[in-house]
Amino acid sequence: MTGEVYTPIEMIRKLISFDTTSRDSNLALINFVADYLSGHGVPSTLIPDPSGKKANLYATLGPTDVPGIVLSGHTDVVPVDGQTWETDPFEMVEKRGRLYGRGTADMKSFFAIGLALVPDFMAQPLAIPIHFALSYDEEVGCLGAPLMIERMGDLAAMPQIVIVGEPTNMCVVNAHKGVYSFHTTVTGLEQHSSRIDQGVNAVQYAARIISFLADIAIEMRDERNQPDSGFTPGYTTVHVGTVQGGTAQNIVPRECTFTWEYRLLPGEDPDEIKNRYDTLIANEILPAMHKVDPDTGVETEVRAMVPGLVPENGSPAEELVLKLAQRNATEVVAYGTEAGQFQSAGVPTVICGPGDIAQAHKPDEFIEISQIESCIGFMGRLKNVCIA
Ligand SMILES: [Zn+2]
Repeated sequence: MTGEVYTPIEMIRKLISFDTTSRDSNLALINFVADYLSGHGVPSTLIPDPSGKKANLYATLGPTDVPGIVLSGHTDVVPVDGQTWETDPFEMVEKRGRLYGRGTADMKSFFAIGLALVPDFMAQPLAIPIHFALSYDEEVGCLGAPLMIERMGDLAAMPQIVIVGEPTNMCVVNAHKGVYSFHTTVTGLEQHSSRIDQGVNAVQYAARIISFLADIAIEMRDERNQPDSGFTPGYTTVHVGTVQGGTAQNIVPRECTFTWEYRLLPGEDPDEIKNRYDTLIANEILPAMHKVDPDTGVETEVRAMVPGLVPENGSPAEELVLKLAQRNATEVVAYGTEAGQFQSAGVPTVICGPGDIAQAHKPDEFIEISQIESCIGFMGRLKNVCIA
């Protein structure tokens, strides 16, 4: 094969140079990866989003009829808007033993290292295939991966293990909470505030719904705490993040919007809180609003529904990845990932990747070069497991 060759750091530099902010296309990066892989004799399949502006990429090194090991990563990054960076976020800069750039920690380094090692992986025949599963739109609600997960079993034998390379400092993570987030619009009826009897106050109805959610949050904390869950805090959290509404003090506000979320302990019913919210609106909020004006209402848009990662102690994924990462114990994390989506498809899944989540989403995001080296060691041991 006559494929291009990159060191891991050169590959990280290359991938950082693509501005793959979630709102924009990721196709330049995806096409680069597809071309690079094809240069090494590895075919890949692109699974586009409905608009055709973004795509997932799924590729198989080695046999397609044997259950393999998936290296999973998201190609998109969060915006740099409003952040002050010392250097160009889309140009990787090496200094003080660190690599700086948007996506160095979250999370291009993991799959960049895997990609740089493709010639190595392919040097000997693989008995167990290695897959790359690269997604779009992870940062805006894990919207891309499900389309790829649906197709995994058609593109090759269903994999036996998924490794999601989000930054864990190369620790092995086997659990995280689910993330369910929503955008609510309360539409009332505008009036001069001297005639509130003829208006429907969107801000005040929103406040009632918000205080209902806040009460659920307290109930979760006081009555549903599971101190042994390994999570901090050890209960499902409910939270309202933003509120906007009203135009002036002397106008009954016509509109109020708010965003809210719950982070669900794995194993809890994902619909419970949303059902309680829906019941409040149907039984109390809407009837009161409609008494004044039937055109008023409440609309709820789902922003993200990311299932939690349920710990599967002793699963093949856990056993293998503990060995590859040279660790003795698993951990849990507070953030959501695509891992629960892979697990929902029946594939044992853990999270293990280079870098620290503390650096993610921040200005001057970086990864320690020592983390890159640990990950290279991890990939080398993976190769030894997979060769015939
Ligand atoms: Zn990430």
